[in-house]
Amino acid sequence: MQSKESKAKYSKDWQKLSLRLRESAGHRCQQCGAKRGEFRNRDTNELMSEEEYIKQRENALHDYLNAKRKHTYINEAYKKIYETTGRLVSLNSGCSGKNLYEAVLAGKDYSHMVSSFRITIRTIKVVIQVHHKDEDTSNNDGSNLICLCGRCHLLNHDRQL
Ligand SMILES: [Zn+2]
Ligand SMILES: [Zn+2]
Repeated sequence: MQSKESKAKYSKDWQKLSLRLRESAGHRCQQCGAKRGEFRNRDTNELMSEEEYIKQRENALHDYLNAKRKHTYINEAYKKIYETTGRLVSLNSGCSGKNLYEAVLAGKDYSHMVSSFRITIRTIKVVIQVHHKDEDTSNNDGSNLICLCGRCHLLNHDRQL
């Protein structure tokens, strides 16, 4: 939420003007080219479409379930648990993959041997904002305005990401 004070500095037609500018920029950041709705990897800053993001998650799941491990018992146990419960788990330290595998096969309680595991790709969805280059939000001269993604916007305000 904007405070009343910061809102007051924007002109009345700001919302309309801002939308018009974003539309004419094709909803792209005029600094890095990121497009509204794309996903940005928070760790690598790589941009990807939603489809690409879903594919990366699927690949990560595939890697998790098919990792080449010394003890394939672990791998087989993970697969079995995922197939039957949909849960992703990792073996707790000090526990044996073979014991886990045998417990899973025998239908015994194995909950003390594993912890939940999450496949995470840290991303942020791109939004486009209109920035006042001189940081005077009442100066809506065309030369003072630029469409930026959230990341570039923060960088332009010298803020920490
Ligand atoms: Zn950008
Ligand atoms: Zn700004």
